[in-house]
Amino acid sequence: MKIARFEFALFGINTYAVFDPESGDCAIIDPGMSNAEERDAVVNFVKKNSLHVVAVVNTHLHIDHAISDKWTKDTFSTIIAASPEDLPLGQNISQQARMFGLPIDVDAVEIDRPLKDGDTIRIGDGELKVIAVPGHSPGGIALYDQADGFLISGDSLFAGSIGRTDLPGGDHRALIENIRSRLLTLPPETIVYPGHGSPTTIGHELRSNPFF
Ligand SMILES: [Zn+2]
Repeated sequence: MKIARFEFALFGINTYAVFDPESGDCAIIDPGMSNAEERDAVVNFVKKNSLHVVAVVNTHLHIDHAISDKWTKDTFSTIIAASPEDLPLGQNISQQARMFGLPIDVDAVEIDRPLKDGDTIRIGDGELKVIAVPGHSPGGIALYDQADGFLISGDSLFAGSIGRTDLPGGDHRALIENIRSRLLTLPPETIVYPGHGSPTTIGHELRSNPFF
């Protein structure tokens, strides 16, 4: 499968489109578009590549990663897949907005497909494996494309850093332990696409990430 990265203004969020060029099936990961121009960029990408959106998938349900969940679901007539452990965050997303000083109402996120560790998300001939990495949020997951050697890590592992754990439901010790045992054990050449900032690799983080 192929992956395209969009960087959007709200908290510098990375939204990804993962797609199988043969079938045209596509998943939109963490729709962080917060204005019309950003939403147009996603629609135009889908149109230009003749893609069919089969799911919105959330690595977790913090507002920057889920602000356009409902819009994306409605626009592409698709479903939302996420961990049910993060459902309270999705239901209180307007509260999260106020916590970050954004005076806006955001559509609550309902989960159509609850994801758990070990689940597989099919996208055409490709698949993403769900790896639970709670710690940044209770329902945090990473998405692993073993065949193509890439990982979408959400806000667990960043290039040179890890996700914050001071938000409700955060657990620093659990996050470190889960990254160490579940992500850093993947092949070192695996490309990591994080929720914020530049891509990296598992091997690079093993050698240089100060948290490990
Ligand atoms: Zn987050």
